Amino acid sequence: FPAERIRNFCIIAHIDHGKSTLADRLLEMTGAIAKTEKNKQVLDKLQVERERGITVKAQTASLFYSHEGEQYLLNLIDTPGHVDFSYEVSRSISACQGVLLIVDANQGIQAQTVANFYLAFEAQLTIIPVINKIDLKNADPERVESQIEKVFDIPREECIRISAKQGTNVEMVLQAVVNRIPPPVASIDDPFKALVFDSNFDHYRGVVANIAVFGGQVRKGDKIMSAHLAKTYEVNELGLLRPDEHPTQKLFAGQVGYIIAGMKDVKEAQIGDTLYLQEQPVKALPGFKPAKAMVFAGMYPMDQSEYPGLRSAIERLTLNDSSVTVQRDSSLALGAGWRLGFLGLLHMEVFNQRLEQEYNASVIVTAPTVPYKAVLSSAKLIKNRRAIQKNMVYIDDQRVMMKYLFPLNEVVVDFYDLLKSLSSGYASFDYENAGYQAADLIKMDILLNGRPVEELTTIVHRERAYPSGKAMCERLKDSIPRQMFEIAVQAAIGSKIIARETIKAFRKNVLAKCYGGDITRKMKLLKRQAEGKKKMRRIGNVEVPKDAFINVLKRK
Ligand code: GDP
Ligand code: MG
Repeated sequence: FPAERIRNFCIIAHIDHGKSTLADRLLEMTGAIAKTEKNKQVLDKLQVERERGITVKAQTASLFYSHEGEQYLLNLIDTPGHVDFSYEVSRSISACQGVLLIVDANQGIQAQTVANFYLAFEAQLTIIPVINKIDLKNADPERVESQIEKVFDIPREECIRISAKQGTNVEMVLQAVVNRIPPPVASIDDPFKALVFDSNFDHYRGVVANIAVFGGQVRKGDKIMSAHLAKTYEVNELGLLRPDEHPTQKLFAGQVGYIIAGMKDVKEAQIGDTLYLQEQPVKALPGFKPAKAMVFAGMYPMDQSEYPGLRSAIERLTLNDSSVTVQRDSSLALGAGWRLGFLGLLHMEVFNQRLEQEYNASVIVTAPTVPYKAVLSSAKLIKNRRAIQKNMVYIDDQRVMMKYLFPLNEVVVDFYDLLKSLSSGYASFDYENAGYQAADLIKMDILLNGRPVEELTTIVHRERAYPSGKAMCERLKDSIPRQMFEIAVQAAIGSKIIARETIKAFRKNVLAKCYGGDITRKMKLLKRQAEGKKKMRRIGNVEVPKDAFINVLKRK
C-alpha cells in the first residue's frame, strides 16, 4: 500500500456523544465486521467497558475502503471521552493526521469536546466536525454548528450531520476522511522506524505492541531493536488490527498495526518507545510526555502471600495503561504494597476493576489523596480562597464556559457528581493542572489508645479539620469490634485532640455458646476465632480488622 492511499485518524468527543457507535458503522460499511443488530460498541472489548458503557482504552482498526476506483487503507482509532483518560487520546493523536470531532446534536459542545479539540489542534491535525444524533427529537444541528463556528473557528459548511445509530450520512464521513485528511508523510525507502503507541501483555506471546510505522518496512524474521533498552529481538508475528489481529507478512511506512517479537518482560516495548532494524539504527522518536498523576492511593494485597501475583498483575496492566505511576510502599497495618498515581478517580476505579477482572487480583485500596508540596513554615498566612474565577465565555445563549482555579482536593472526590446533580446533568467539567498553590493545610493524625495510626494520617484544610476528624473517628468506632479494654479513638492536630470516640470494653466469648461438653464443637469455634484474628492487625494493643482501614478511608 502506497502511503498516499493511507489515512490515519481518530474519533474524539465528549463522553456519550457517539464515538464508539460511529466506529461500529465505519467497521460495518467497510466490511470489517458483519452488519447485524448485535454490533454495539464492538471496539469496547474490555469487560469494564461493557459494564460501564464507556471506552477507557483506545482501540485501533484498519479498514479497507474503495473510493472513486481506488482502494484506501483507513486506520481508525476510537478513543475514550472522559477526562481521566485523555492521556489515551493524546497518544492516539500522535499516530494520526486527522480527527473526527463528534458533537451531539442535542447536547452541543461540552467540556471534553473543547479539551479534545485542543489536543488535536495543538498537534496540527485536520479536524472534521461531525454532528451526531440528528435523529433525536430535540436535535438542533443549526445551533451546534453555530457553537462550532464560535468556539473552534471552523466554518459551519465543514460540519457533517449524521446519525451514527441509524447510519445516516456515515458514507459522507468516510469520503471526508479520504478527501480532507492528508496521507502520512512516510517513505518506504527510509530505514524502518516505528512508534510504539500502545502495548499489551499476552500471557503466552509476551508483549504485543501497537505500532505506527513512520518509515521503511518490517517483516517477519527481521531483527529489530528498541531504542529504550537497545535489546535485539526477532519479529515472530506482525499484522493489522481489523479490529482483531490479522497477521501479514510485512508492515509498511504509513501503516498502523501490531508486532510480537518475543519480549517477555513488561519493561520491554514501553509505550512511546521507538523500534528499528538492528542493522539500521535511527534516532528515537520524541515519545510521549509522561502523564501527570493527580490522585494517589495505596494498593495492598488482601494477604501478603498474594504479593508476587499482584505485583506482576500491576506491572502487566500498567504496560497497557502507562498513565499509572507505581511506587513501592508499605504500611504497618497492610504490609507491603504500592502507592499508585492515577489521572482521576474514575481512572483509579477502572484500574482496580481491570485488575480484578482481567488479572483475578483482589486488592485493598486506600483513600485517594492528591499531591501536596509541604513548606515547613510557621506563617502560612495567606488566606486560602477555595476557587478563583479566571474567565467566562458565552458559547451561545444557553451555554457558558467558565474557567476556575480550584484546589485539586476539592475537585477530585465528588465535585463532578455534585456539579452534575446541581445542573440536572447539563453542566460538564474538565480540568488541567495549574501547579501548586499555597494553602492553609494541616496534618491530622488518628490515634488508637494514644498511638498514631500512620496510614490514617491525612492532610486537611484547617477549616475542615474538625468535621473530618469527627467523621473518621465515628467510622472507625463502627468498624472496630469491642475488645477486652476500652479503646479511645481520637483525631489530633499536633498534640491537640480535636475529636474523640470511645469503644467500650467487651469480651466476645465464643465458648459461651457451648453448653455442655461437645469438645469438637468447642475446637471448631476456637479455630474460627483464631482465623478471625488473622484478619486483624495490631496497633499498640488494639486489634483492628483490616477492612476497618478501608471503611474509614473509603469515600462514603
Ligand atoms: P461514546 O462514549 O462517544 O463512545 O458514545 P457511544 O457510541 O457509546 O454512544 C453513547 C450512547 O449514544 C449510546 O447509547 C448510543 O446508542 C447512543 N447513540 C450513538 N449515536 C447515536 C445516534 O446517532 N442517535 C441516537 N439516537 N443515539 C445514538
Ligand atoms: Mg466509546
